[in-house]
Amino acid sequence: MATTISSNLTRPEPQALKRAIDALAARFGNRLVTSQAVREQHAHTTTWLPTQPPDAVVMAQETADIQDVVRICAANRVPVIAFGTGTSLEGQVNAPAGGVCIDLRDMNKVLEVHAEDLDCVIQPGVTRKALNEYLRDQGLFFPIDPGADASLGGMTSTRASGTNAVRYGTMRENVLALKVVRGDGEIITTGTRAKKSSAGYDLTHLFIGARVRSASSPS
Ligand SMILES: Cc1cc2nc3c(=O)[nH]c(=O)nc-3n(C[C@H](O)[C@H](O)[C@H](O)COP(=O)(O)OP(=O)(O)OC[C@H]3O[C@@H](n4cnc5c(N)ncnc54)[C@H](O)[C@@H]3O)c2cc1C
Repeated sequence: MATTISSNLTRPEPQALKRAIDALAARFGNRLVTSQAVREQHAHTTTWLPTQPPDAVVMAQETADIQDVVRICAANRVPVIAFGTGTSLEGQVNAPAGGVCIDLRDMNKVLEVHAEDLDCVIQPGVTRKALNEYLRDQGLFFPIDPGADASLGGMTSTRASGTNAVRYGTMRENVLALKVVRGDGEIITTGTRAKKSSAGYDLTHLFIGARVRSASSPS
């Protein structure tokens, strides 16, 4: 029988959780971690909420890893929580119903810099300080500074701002396009490097700020 955490959050069935963790162990080997210390590290945020660790953590290295975690977890109805650097303030990385945390810190490559167009293509685990270190020699900088050395993926998901926002905007004004792994494991690309786009729904801005507040935060 499933254990109810609150009115709308239900822990996965124990057998389904075991199936998911067994499948993840077979796929990821020692990149799947279930030790209590590591699980607690991935639930810790600077929040008033109690620590709510996931049941397991997967260290992702590429997009296909994320797709496989999402597919395995979706098939077993196990929650998935992305983890950038864990600096969010409202318990966003907590796992109130358990589940599997995807740690993105190893996806930390700057893939392209287009200095003439003032844009770049990055993996989600790149932190804002690392990006600025990378850009410095070219006389460029990334302006969003929320006060923590957060990952660009996490900053996108929380629509981070900070003291430079008055002049340079927030993540909303600075992210041109996203590659998104959907809940069924399929990938969508929400835009291109072109600033002008009049085609279709503005999916980019649907995803920016999607994790501003967790389900367990007070409203
Ligand atoms: C001292 C301090 C001061 C701050 N001041 C400000 C401020 O002035 N203005 C402001 O806007 N914010 C501020 N913040 C909050 C800051 O914006 C967030 O901490 C930061 O954006 C979170 O980034 P992270 O990499 O740590 O994400 P995490 O905390 O790891 O994750 C945050 C959320 O994003 C999700 N997530 C993470 N990575 C991804 C991904 N790749 N894809 C999808 N979802 C993902 C997580 O599941 C979680 O829901 C402050 C934080 C601190 C610690």
